[in-house]
Amino acid sequence: MKQNLSLDSSEDITLKIKEKALSLGFDDCGVAEAGEVPARESGRLTRWVDSGFHADMGYMERNNDKRIDPRSLVLGARSVIVLLTNYYSGYNPDSERPRVARYAAGADYHKVLKDKMYSLLQFIKEIVPGSNGRVFTDSAPVMERTWAVTAGLGWIGRNSMLISKKYGSYNFLAEIITTAELNPDRPFKTSHCGSCTKCVTACPTAAILPDLTVDSNRCISWVTIENKDKIPGVFKGRMQNWIFGCDICIEVCPWNNHPVITGEKLFRPNDAVERMANGNWQLTDQKQFEEDFSDSPLLRTGYNGIRRNLEFIKDDPPSVLKGNDKKQ
Ligand code: SF4
Ligand code: SF4
Repeated sequence: MKQNLSLDSSEDITLKIKEKALSLGFDDCGVAEAGEVPARESGRLTRWVDSGFHADMGYMERNNDKRIDPRSLVLGARSVIVLLTNYYSGYNPDSERPRVARYAAGADYHKVLKDKMYSLLQFIKEIVPGSNGRVFTDSAPVMERTWAVTAGLGWIGRNSMLISKKYGSYNFLAEIITTAELNPDRPFKTSHCGSCTKCVTACPTAAILPDLTVDSNRCISWVTIENKDKIPGVFKGRMQNWIFGCDICIEVCPWNNHPVITGEKLFRPNDAVERMANGNWQLTDQKQFEEDFSDSPLLRTGYNGIRRNLEFIKDDPPSVLKGNDKKQ
C-alpha cells in the first residue's frame, strides 16, 4: 500500500501519532518496524514453553508463527506502535490483609486502554488514508515486552517485566500493529538491572530463574489468577496474603523507588478493594462479588477462584513468610 506522504513525511506522521497518544493519556509511545522478532527472543520463548514454565496456559503453545511475526496478525503490517501506561495509583496494599496486585485494584485495564487504542487507531487511519491496523492489549499472541524494547521504551528486567527509566515497572503495555509506514525508534540496547538481584531474592517461591525467565508453576500471580485447580502445596506458607496477583518482585525493584502517580483515575482502587484493605470486606455471596467487581480484573478469576485463594491464605501467617526460602 502506498501511503499519502504528500503533506507529511513519515517522520511528521510518527510525531503526530505520538503526540496524539500522549494526549489520550498514554504515558509513553514508541515505534518499531514490523518483522520477525530477533531469534534470541523467539528462542527464549520456545525454551520457556518447552520447559513447561507456562504451566497450564495452553494458549502459549499455539500461534507461535503469529507470536514471532506481527505481519501474520495484520496483513501488510509495517509498524508496531507500543504504548505504555503507568498504573501506579498510590495504593499500597497492607501485607497483613488479603491483598490484590496494584494493577488489578481499579478498573479492568483491557477496557480502559481499548477505548484509547481505538481512538488512536482511528486517528492513524485519518492521517494515513488507506492504512489499516489492529489493537492489542494482552489479548493476542504479541510478544509485547520484546516489542517495547525494540520500540525503545525500556528493558526487560530479571523478573521479566518491562522496566521504563521514567515509569519503572508499574506499567501496562498495549500495541497497535498498522500498515502505516512510520519512523522506528532506536531499540533500547542496555539492561539497567546491573548486578541487582533484589527481585530474585525477594520472590517467596523462587519463581525467578536465570535468563529473564519466570516459572509460572511457582508464581503467585499465576496460581491466584490463571490456575483453575487447587492451589498446589508448594505455595503453602508463601502466599504473603496475595489473593489476586503478586507485586513482590515489582515492589523491591529499585526502579520503582519513586513511582510516578498515574493520571488515570480509573486505576484507583475500587470501593470493594478499599474495604478489603480496611479489613471490612467479606466474600459472602456471588451476586455481591459480581456487583462489587463488575468492572474489575478480579472477575477473570471469579467468585469461586477468589474464595479458593482466600481459603488458602486463611491460616498462612505472613510473618513467617518473609524472604526467599529455596529449600523446596
Ligand atoms: S509475581 Fe510474586 S511469585 Fe511471581 S515471580 Fe514475582 S515475586 Fe515471585
Ligand atoms: S529488582 Fe533488580 S534485578 Fe530485578 S528487575 Fe529490578 S533492577 Fe532488575
